[in-house]
Amino acid sequence: MTEGILLVISGPSGVGKGTLCKALREGFSELCYSISATTRAPRPGEQNGVEYLFLSPEEFEAKIERDEFLEWAFVYENYYGTPRVPVEEALKKGKDIVLEIDMQGALQIKERFPEAVFVYLLSPSLEEQRRRIERRGTENPENMNSRLEAVKEELKHLNWYDYVIVNDEIADGVDKLKSIITAEKCRVTRNREWLAHLVQLSGGDGIDRTEL
Ligand code: 5GP
Repeated sequence: MTEGILLVISGPSGVGKGTLCKALREGFSELCYSISATTRAPRPGEQNGVEYLFLSPEEFEAKIERDEFLEWAFVYENYYGTPRVPVEEALKKGKDIVLEIDMQGALQIKERFPEAVFVYLLSPSLEEQRRRIERRGTENPENMNSRLEAVKEELKHLNWYDYVIVNDEIADGVDKLKSIITAEKCRVTRNREWLAHLVQLSGGDGIDRTEL
């Protein structure tokens, strides 16, 4: 069995991570998605347990105390965190799971799961980035500026991500994400279990077992 991939997608607010993941979900129905917890207020149309688990700060802090998050961060004045159990269970079953989280959270995941795959999504330009947040119409000017400042800061620290995608056309972005997943699934290191079995069946001649 191929080992499950932990795919971490980060990128500026409004870059279209949600839209891209939704489109990806249509093409890759077997992918699991982690539902984050947050203390921010739901936006119109967002439902508890669908886009996020909406918690009070006290509820969130109690979960931190109980070590219920794989990672958590304070982003734009709110807590955001990845519930631990669903991710660990998906990976145990060999399923692929997507986390859509900010860079602080991604770094925490990198420390725990160095084999995870890290993708950063970018808008074609900062002006386009501003337009995308404006179009969404959910942020006040102060919040909007802090989100744009955060983009500039994040750009300086991109070098440890594995892939970057400029999210111009959704279809193109989805194609690139699919290609990344497909390539990652073909990595020898993710196919160790059945390759080791193959070596056993073949008597092991010519293949160094220790490297599998
Ligand atoms: P938004 O409020 O626009 O939904 O999300 C704001 C930011 O929080 C985005 O950059 C998003 O990727 C990030 N985010 C969402 N869920 C999580 C999470 O569970 N952990 C972390 N660290 N960041 C998250």
